[in-house]
Amino acid sequence: MDLGLRDKIVVVTGGSSGIGLAAVRGFLDDGARVAFCARGAERLESVCEELAQVYGADRVLARALTVLDKDAIEVFAEDVAARFGGCDALVTNAGQGRVSTFADTTDADWRAELELKFFSQLYPIQAFEKMLRDSPSGAIVAVNSLLAYQPEPHMVCTSAARAGVQNLLKSLATELAPEIRVNSVLLGLVDSNQWQRRFEARADKSVSRADWYADLARKKAIPLGRLGEAEEAARALVFLASPAASYITGARLEISGGVSRFS
Ligand code: NDP
Repeated sequence: MDLGLRDKIVVVTGGSSGIGLAAVRGFLDDGARVAFCARGAERLESVCEELAQVYGADRVLARALTVLDKDAIEVFAEDVAARFGGCDALVTNAGQGRVSTFADTTDADWRAELELKFFSQLYPIQAFEKMLRDSPSGAIVAVNSLLAYQPEPHMVCTSAARAGVQNLLKSLATELAPEIRVNSVLLGLVDSNQWQRRFEARADKSVSRADWYADLARKKAIPLGRLGEAEEAARALVFLASPAASYITGARLEISGGVSRFS
């Protein structure tokens, strides 16, 4: 199926690793030009160099910044406008989860997590809104988590923040229509740097990677019996951001191997 992404301009936040990087590659494979950001300049630049060699330097743009810096995101949007002339789709993917229970989450942790989850959506959306409105196929795809509907006590503040973000996205799907479609993906457990970091921090260092992941899938009772691959999540992001999804807005798509228990 032709997704209609040839020569479209796509922005991906958190594009230097995991699901964001898989999405950047997916958009480039489908003919789009892609701008992406992340905090760590070294990894970002090496990824950008590699992509420029494969897809052409004229089709990629990378900027090192945190999405929590409003001014930096606005400058990024100006750079995208200057380099590519607009923006057709925005994927708000940057971030990470916080593992903590109610008892061990401080007020400062709550503030930091609420800030990360909300402003990692709000600042990029504010900065790119005008360009998205001007596009004939403006689209936002937000990366969110099953935790929004299925809270985990060991991730109490991430779960609560994700529920609020999901609510916000529903409002935006109405307010930004008809010019901009707004959809979300709800991730279960998807293999990425986040999980690699948790694997490296495992208590028993004698457990192999394969066994640790298999055990995790078993403990979480994932019906498909494994974690998802970053590319499997990315394919959904690419589709929802593309003109092929032109009549889909306000929707949420689970990418979880069937692990959700809500209907
Ligand atoms: P990775 O750690 O592999 O990738 C995260 C990416 O986001 C990196 O490029 C990272 O680069 C960037 N990033 C993180 N924080 C910021 C920031 N403040 N500003 C700009 N860039 C940032 O993790 P995933 O691919 O797993 O995560 C992608 C998204 O999916 C995250 O929002 C995560 O919370 C969400 N998610 C993932 C799940 C999973 O199972 N993998 C489950 C549920 C949700 P750098 O560190 O250099 O900034």
